[in-house]
Amino acid sequence: MSPDVVVVGGGIIGCAVLHALARVLPRSTRLLLLERDAIAGATSGSSMGHLMVTPDTPEAYSFTRTSVRLWAELAERTDGERAFYYRPTGALYLADSAEDLDLLPVLNRQFLDRGDSCEVVDERRLREIEPGLADDVPGALYYPGDGVVLPMLACSAMLREAMQLNPNVEVRAECPVTGFDVGGGRVTAVRTARGVVPTAHVVNATGVWAPELAEMLGQPRLPIWPRAGNLAITAHHVSPIRTQLLEIAYLRFAHGAAEVDPSGAGSDLGGHAVNMQPQSHGGCLIGSTRQFRGMDRTLNRELLHRSLLRAQRYAPSLAAAPIVRTWVGLRPYAEDGVPLIGPWPHVEGLWIAAGHEGLGISLAPITGLLLAQQIAGVAPAIDPTPYLPARFAA
Ligand SMILES: Cc1cc2nc3c(=O)[nH]c(=O)nc-3n(C[C@H](O)[C@H](O)[C@H](O)COP(=O)(O)OP(=O)(O)OC[C@H]3O[C@@H](n4cnc5c(N)ncnc54)[C@H](O)[C@@H]3O)c2cc1C
Repeated sequence: MSPDVVVVGGGIIGCAVLHALARVLPRSTRLLLLERDAIAGATSGSSMGHLMVTPDTPEAYSFTRTSVRLWAELAERTDGERAFYYRPTGALYLADSAEDLDLLPVLNRQFLDRGDSCEVVDERRLREIEPGLADDVPGALYYPGDGVVLPMLACSAMLREAMQLNPNVEVRAECPVTGFDVGGGRVTAVRTARGVVPTAHVVNATGVWAPELAEMLGQPRLPIWPRAGNLAITAHHVSPIRTQLLEIAYLRFAHGAAEVDPSGAGSDLGGHAVNMQPQSHGGCLIGSTRQFRGMDRTLNRELLHRSLLRAQRYAPSLAAAPIVRTWVGLRPYAEDGVPLIGPWPHVEGLWIAAGHEGLGISLAPITGLLLAQQIAGVAPAIDPTPYLPARFAA
């Protein structure tokens, strides 16, 4: 029997879409996920797992907060601490300059204006939360609502629950999509390396490859560009930290629309703001840099080195911690800094869930839910208008 919906892409977004479809649509709905390589083998397996609430606008807050709540609910239902290393660690934003210190009350006010709580911490409280920090960190803000997950395991947890909810869920890894059949303005089938799959609905959840998939459908390339990030991880049991830590300067440089040419055609020198994450094995994951340079995944040693020095500035004992692995992941950056979630207006039955840049792990559950609710034709959990891909359809 042919599937009712085919999700293409087995990263965190494709897994979250499949999961939400299994929750929202009737149990009799046939759902198929197709992944070219391994589940979580691309960006989602190369990322940090910070579940981040961003309060800068009411819209951004409701988008991220709802999603982080959905993560907590999944964890509650599925023994998340064991299943995907879910931990509600909170986040500590660290200041290191007068400019940074000015940002603390701004961020504090934003959280309070959204009806949430957070705390600008004094030296004593900072030490209480993170005894391993340098004693000359001039200021910090603690937000208790953030968490961390291990993204690869989180993909598995979503697929597992989808299969429990709906016996008609199927996942095919190592099954590249090679093309589509479109007739009368609507999708009729997906072509794969292992045969043709007739269907009426296709979800493009292929991250940095979403533009390629759009081209396969005879549509213009979507404005999504790879944005490289270098990461390093220490050996087990040496992490001096227990909270998700990030320089408050990260807020200035990470989210929203970039100021450089994302096509990689210009010469983006890249930037960094340190981000440190305690791992369940006692290691410390350290990032993160940003640079547009196409699909190039070679390590930028200089940028990474700068991140490591910043990490040591805040947590001096990291200088002695052995780095056991370094790697590069490619964030799917949408041209306006906002993900694409919803129908593509020029091909009936074609849906998009892509372009989440550095927040795809955080935003996966709300992305899946919004897309599933649109496919099901039920009221959305939050207003989906800002994320509709139609803004890029000429
Ligand atoms: C260094 C770094 C740190 C990050 N840290 C965080 C963080 O702390 N918190 C956070 O929220 N986010 C973070 N992110 C962002 C997050 O990782 C991404 O937004 C997210 O993983 C994107 O998921 P995706 O499913 O869209 O893409 P992917 O994980 O890349 O999945 C797309 C999948 O599509 C498959 N595919 C492509 N073409 C085809 C085809 N033709 N047929 C079949 N399958 C195909 C690919 O093989 C791939 O598996 C980070 C990213 C990086 C790089």
